[in-house]
Parts: sequence; structure tokens; C-alpha cells
Amino acid sequence: SATRRWLFADQLGPHFLDRPDQPVLLIESQAVFARRRFHRQKAHLVLSALRHRAAELGDQADLHQVTTYAEALDRYDEPLSVCAPTTWSSRDYVLQRPGVEVLAARGFVSSQGEFARWAEGRGRRRLLMEDFYRDARRRLGVLMDGAEPLGGQWNRDHENREPAPRDGRSPAPEPWWPAEDEIDEQVRADLDRWEADGSVSFVGDDGPRRFPVTREEALTRLADFLTARLGVFGPHEDAMLADERWMAHSLLSPAINLGLLDPLEVVHAAEDTARARAADGEPLPLNSVEGFIRQLMGWRDYIWHTYWHFGRHYRHANALRALEPVPGWMAELDDTAVDAACLSGVLGDLRRDGWVHHIPRLMVLGNYALQRGIDPREMTDWFHRTFVDGYDWVMVANVVGMSQHADGGMLATKPYAAGGAYIDRMSDYCGRCPYDPRRRLGEDACPYTAGYWAFLERNRERLAGNQRMRRPLQGLDRLKDLPLVVEQEAARGTGAP
Ligand code: FAD
Ligand code: SF4
Repeated sequence: SATRRWLFADQLGPHFLDRPDQPVLLIESQAVFARRRFHRQKAHLVLSALRHRAAELGDQADLHQVTTYAEALDRYDEPLSVCAPTTWSSRDYVLQRPGVEVLAARGFVSSQGEFARWAEGRGRRRLLMEDFYRDARRRLGVLMDGAEPLGGQWNRDHENREPAPRDGRSPAPEPWWPAEDEIDEQVRADLDRWEADGSVSFVGDDGPRRFPVTREEALTRLADFLTARLGVFGPHEDAMLADERWMAHSLLSPAINLGLLDPLEVVHAAEDTARARAADGEPLPLNSVEGFIRQLMGWRDYIWHTYWHFGRHYRHANALRALEPVPGWMAELDDTAVDAACLSGVLGDLRRDGWVHHIPRLMVLGNYALQRGIDPREMTDWFHRTFVDGYDWVMVANVVGMSQHADGGMLATKPYAAGGAYIDRMSDYCGRCPYDPRRRLGEDACPYTAGYWAFLERNRERLAGNQRMRRPLQGLDRLKDLPLVVEQEAARGTGAP
């Protein structure tokens, strides 16, 4: 349609318009940042992206800087259209707003109808990501060789669990970084002013801006990834290095979540690169290419669809009855308060950049919260505010389902709880830590190792029905010092370890 298109701040790419010259409405609401405490760089990124889009569109776009959406919308007599926004609350809002036509969502690989058809498929019991991913690859013909997966295997994850490189060096070169411009300068001045007058408050360090805010920057980051990083993406995908926080990750999630890139175009670009390299006699390892494509058309889409599929109450699930508040040192990203090398390192990276990769999120931050019984709703909110790529739709399933097992296993078959041995294998943190990953009792007992056993003991009955937890729960009975470990960890609680 040619009606004026209202674009939310996460709908900034060309694929959210029907025609390149379609009139546009953009709304910048300061109130969003006043209500909750965001990472400073997240506020910067969103405002900078919105203002860059307005500048790019020039006369074609109206940018309203207001307190509430209604204030801007009330100024229009003409009909407006909007692509379905990404959260329950914003969808409710646009649907009840007269004169606004709500179109299907964009910015994901599979449509809601395609997901629904797959989910309703006959005889399907669990909604497994792996099945959904294969269905999408077949449907879209991605990495296929006729009816078979390219290379004969759907899944090469077993090749992608290498421990941290022993030399402590990243497998990939330093990523490309964007340069700030006068719009960033203006954003920084505004944020400083709002902070100074007390209307907003942030956590985390200020700049330099590390993530794309325009389509052009996003395409440059994508090209840099495809050329220099994709080939080594896989093997160390799960590894963490204290001094190499980017590893071979794409750093594309903020740009994709802002809508600057369409995930399917990224998938096609990765496949095209792989096929071109193979034709040139310099093939990229399939485990890396498949591993990356799986993240985007598998995991990202699956998380999006489950957000809607499990319904609006999914976010309140708390199957393990975890009720502890997020501790102050965590809320403040105070890495200096923490001795545990892994947790302190990850918190410091997060304070600096508003981003860490998947494994620090899941196995350091999430694992800590799970073991210590922190309220999953509070954790969802904390992740959402603190990460530059955090949005409601992506946080609920990742935190409530995947990381905190608060849905009782609808999403992940077992809790992602692990002791220090896992972190020791996958990182170089333990060598720098005052704790010992092998010890569960005493002064130098690793908070993750001891925390793991205390977690199992606390949830013994709740997890008893889970087949995959049988062996770990049996392990509990062999620990003669278990009561002492439980007592020690109860005393430690959520105090900075
Ligand atoms: P890469 O490792 O290069 O992966 C490529 C792309 O795959 C990412 O850019 C992302 O778009 C997609 N992807 C992979 N896994 C997921 C997933 N589980 N959910 C959604 N997209 C995925 N991702 C977010 O985009 N926003 C979040 O707020 C977010 N919160 C998370 C919270 C927890 C507790 C966990 C365990 C994961 C979370 N993730 C989130 C998923 C994942 O950690 C990030 O997408 C990834 O680390 C982003 O860095 P990257 O672009 O370099 O990713
Ligand atoms: Fe983390 Fe424990 Fe290793 Fe220290 S010993 S770095 S706390 S896993």
C-alpha cells in the first residue's frame, strides 16, 4: 500500500517499505528510556539508528520527538500502515488504534503461518528447533543438494564444540568497526543532558559505538564477516577467551534486530559466499557455514515464533520457583566487586560493550542466575535492558525457556546448569581465578561447581521426572559432603563470588 508507513525503531531497513518512495512516520519516545535503566550504549544505538534513518529519508519521513506514541499519531488524519510490531504490548497497541492498518510481521525467515503449519504437523509432540530448522531449509532450498542436505548431514554441531584455543588468540582477525558521525555526537549530547537533568539513568560505559546504525554500515559488517570470519566461525563457536571477546562471531544481531538487514538475505549471502569459494577451489568448511546459517534461520526464527506460540503468559513461567532478586553488583555491572574470573570478565565486557557472545550469556551469566535461583522475570528484564541486541521477543524465550528452565522444559530438554569443569574446558578463565574449578568445598571452592550441586539438591524433586537429569541426580547421592556444600552455598547466596 502507498499509505504512510509507521516504522518502529526495529523496522529500519528497506524491506519494511512497500515502495522506496513511500512516506514514512518515525517516532522517537524519550519516555521509553526514562521508564527503565538501559545500558547507555543500547540507548545510543537505538536513537542513532532512528535518527540516521530519518536523515537518510529526508523529506520522505516525519520524525516526531515526543513522550508518547499517541502524541505523534494524533497529528495524523490520513490512514497509516504498520508492519506488525515485535512485542505483545506494542501489537495490542497498534491493533486498538483506529486508522492504522496492521500488516504481517517482516524481518524473519519463516512466516507465522509457516511456523503454525509446521507446529501443527501430524504426530509432532515436542517443538524441536532441529525439526523446524530442517523444515525451513527444505522449504527454502538453503544448503540443499536436491532433497538432501548439502554434504550429507543436517547437523555438524559436534564439530563446533572445540575448547578455547590454547594460545589465547581468537581464530578470527579484529572485526571491522564503524566510525561515529555528527548524528552520534548529537545523540551523545542528548543522553548526557537527560542524564544530567535526572530524567534518565543508564548502566554501562559510554561508546565508542561498535554496532551498525545504517544499512550501509550493516552491509559492511556483513561483508567483513563473510570475507574474514565465516570460515572460522564454527569450531570455537562455544569457546571463551578472557582477552578476545569477539572470537569469530558475526556481531550482526544488533543490526538484524534493528531491521537493517533481513535475516534471509544474510542466509543467502552466506550460502552464496560458500558456493563461490568452493567454485574457486577454496571451499569454506561446511561446519562453519552450516553452523552460522543454523543460528539465523534455525535459532533466531525459532525463538521468535515460540514467543508468540507459547502465548502472552509464557513470560511469567517460573517452574523452579526461583525468587531471588538480581543482586546489586550484577545490576550495576560491577565487575570489580567479583573475584570469580569468568563472571568478573564477562561482566566487565558487558559493561564496556553491552554485548557478549552466546556462551557467556548462557553458561556464565544465565548459569549463575539459574544456580542461585534468581527470578527469571527479573533476569529477562535485566538481559533486555543490558544488551544492545535485547528486545522483548528475543529475551523471553532465550531467558525464561532456554537459560532459566522456567518453562519446565518446553523449549530445552534440560536445564543449562554446569559446574566449573565446563567453563574450565571452554575458556582460559580458571587459570586466572582464585577459585579452583575442581573444588566444591572450602575457601577456594568454585562457585559454579559448588553452585551446581546445590542447585541439583534444591531442585531434586522438580527435576526427578526428567530422563536427561537422572544421571546427574544420581551423582548427588554419591557426595558425602553434600550437606556441607549446601550450607556453604546458602551462606554465599547471591553475594558477589
Ligand atoms: P552469532 O554467533 O554470529 O550468530 C549469528 C546470528 O544468529 C545472531 O546475530 C543472531 O541473530 C542469531 N541467533 C543465534 N542464536 C540466537 C538465539 N538463541 N536467539 C536469537 N537469535 C539468535 N540474541 C539476540 O539477538 N538478542 C538477545 O537479546 C539475546 N539474548 C540472549 C539471552 C540469553 C540468555 C541467551 C542464551 C542468548 C541470547 N541471544 C540473544 C542469542 C545469542 O546469544 C545472540 O544472538 C548472539 O550472541 C549475538 O551475537 P552475534 O550476532 O555475533 O551472533
Ligand atoms: Fe569461573 Fe570457577 Fe573457573 Fe573461577 S574456577 S573462572 S569461578 S569456573
